[in-house]
Amino acid sequence: MGEKIIGIDLGTTNSVVSVVVGGEPIVIQNQEGNRITPSVVSWTKEKEILVGEPAKRRAILDPLNTVYESKRFIGRKFSEVRDIIGRVSYKVVEDDKGDAVFDIPNAGKLVRPEEVGAHILRKLKEAAESYLGEKIQKAVITVPAYFNERQRQATKMAGKLAGLEVVRVLNEPTAAALAYGLDKKENAKILVYDFGGGTFDVSILEGGDGVIEVKATAGDSFLGGANIDERIMEWLIEEFKKETGIDLRNDKTALQRLKDAAEQAKKELSFKMETEISLPFITIDPATKQPLHLQKKLTRARLEQMIEDIIDRTLEIVKKALADANLKPEEIDDVVLVGGSTRIPLVQQKIKEFFGKEPHKGVNPDEVVAIGAAIQGSILSGEKKDILLIDVTPLSLGIETYGGAMTVLIPRNTPIPVRKCETFTTVSDFQTEVEIKVYQGESPIAKENKLLGTFRLTGIPPAPRGVPQIEVCFDIDADGILHVTAKDKATGKEQSITVQPSSGLTEEEVKKMLEEYEKHKDEYERKKKLIELKNQLDQIIYPIEKLLKESPDKFTEEERKELEKLVVESRKVIETSTDLNEVEKKLEEARQLATKYAEKLYRATQGGKDNNNNKGSEGGEGPIDAKPVD
Ligand code: ADP
Ligand code: MG
Repeated sequence: MGEKIIGIDLGTTNSVVSVVVGGEPIVIQNQEGNRITPSVVSWTKEKEILVGEPAKRRAILDPLNTVYESKRFIGRKFSEVRDIIGRVSYKVVEDDKGDAVFDIPNAGKLVRPEEVGAHILRKLKEAAESYLGEKIQKAVITVPAYFNERQRQATKMAGKLAGLEVVRVLNEPTAAALAYGLDKKENAKILVYDFGGGTFDVSILEGGDGVIEVKATAGDSFLGGANIDERIMEWLIEEFKKETGIDLRNDKTALQRLKDAAEQAKKELSFKMETEISLPFITIDPATKQPLHLQKKLTRARLEQMIEDIIDRTLEIVKKALADANLKPEEIDDVVLVGGSTRIPLVQQKIKEFFGKEPHKGVNPDEVVAIGAAIQGSILSGEKKDILLIDVTPLSLGIETYGGAMTVLIPRNTPIPVRKCETFTTVSDFQTEVEIKVYQGESPIAKENKLLGTFRLTGIPPAPRGVPQIEVCFDIDADGILHVTAKDKATGKEQSITVQPSSGLTEEEVKKMLEEYEKHKDEYERKKKLIELKNQLDQIIYPIEKLLKESPDKFTEEERKELEKLVVESRKVIETSTDLNEVEKKLEEARQLATKYAEKLYRATQGGKDNNNNKGSEGGEGPIDAKPVD
């Protein structure tokens, strides 16, 4: 049995650590005896760093030194989060690389979101170590499905800073689906309804044959349990003001206590019909200098009135996800509840009304993601072999090749991790550089797809076109991160990029591109054909062109005229024509002439150089030319 790999749900509001012991996933208690750890870190004046519950208690009291919801900023450029920095109480600034970082006075330095994540992860790691009585070095960490590569890499970095090798970055809905057992079902469709502290996410997943695929996602990144707490707080503040004329909004200590009490009351009302909110000595009456107490009864019915619109908003988003996946509510086999806020009875009731059946209640909603991560960890450690879990690429990945074509190396819906290589060659004589442009999308025209990155392979030894062999490899690791390398087989020279996440696609963009593809499928096919034919025409014209230039004396005046006309017309067709028939006609004409002058052409191309074959000289790889560099 391999060493233990723990599973961690590094949540926006709360984090959870789980591990599989004896085949069963268990949730590990933290140092305070809780199964859930607030994702909050606070720096005291004494430079002490508090993590979890003790940090959360300082959120309002010391707003500038207490970082919560740091996940909103991990792996993000400042420019991407400019609009939301006003929503947190601590200071978010731009560092010299343009990244979003935190300016924490008590820390005495800028703190990166990865470091905040690392403090939380370290606490959970230590909890796991003391529970298991052994050192833990590896973890599976979950992230939202829409996280781009930069956000995923930053999450990995947080693990590294905490002394953890992150063996897999797993999508949260996929983790939930795994805990649900979707991979073991036959072609089942589930909807993961994740209502957390600060965010709401819906994902529709399909499982079967050991593959779990995310079909659609939708969400609201500012809709969560915190909105509900705020409603209760507002109500308490208003009630108190009615009774005493005092506005508690100006009193930080009171606000912190109100917030904690509001959340507590909300949680209790998930199990009880009414609750007593009691905050003795909430403030001092400025007139009488006497302490004032806040005492309020809140019923579940009253709470439900306060928050019904919030829950209705989540269902609107569910509708959107269903529409995106082209599914009706009744086509969903199970609704899996994730996130602490799904414990609210009204949430469950509304889901039941909407889908016409009870939501699935298998695992604790606030623990299900961590449990899925632990299951994935046990699979990776070799402990559990019965399940195979694969994510797939949502869109095709490839490079731009001669004529602007998109040459796909990894088609969409390919299970990851995956590695694919193909050999390309040059299109000009003595070309010493190729530019590799990596695209993602379904159009056969590269530039109609999303450009993910570009790099050059230089120092290719000068050779006639078609001779150099450049091997391009696409490697998508298990975390969905794409590495592209290009290697000149002759010299072994290599260049590579890891696709830069700032250019990653959002879930929304993926959807749009797929829709676009479906709509223009026929048009795409036509364009693809056009590029193919033009390439064939170029293959024929090129040696003729060259021979005319280098040894015009090989031909009679008349022959030369005929061939020159062909070359000029063909070039024009290649450059400007969008008419398949026209290109086809020209190609046919070129073929005939090439046959007519076959002998001369053949001898000429054999003379001097030993090989001027335009195709990659190893069979089976296809005549794909890397785009020439001007
Ligand atoms: P996240 O995924 O954002 O880290 P969680 O899934 O841990 O968050 O959900 C946290 C939210 O769930 C908080 O707003 C918390 O108050 C709420 N919550 C937890 N337990 C309950 C409960 N019993 N009833 C209602 N809300 C709850
Ligand atoms: Mg969560």
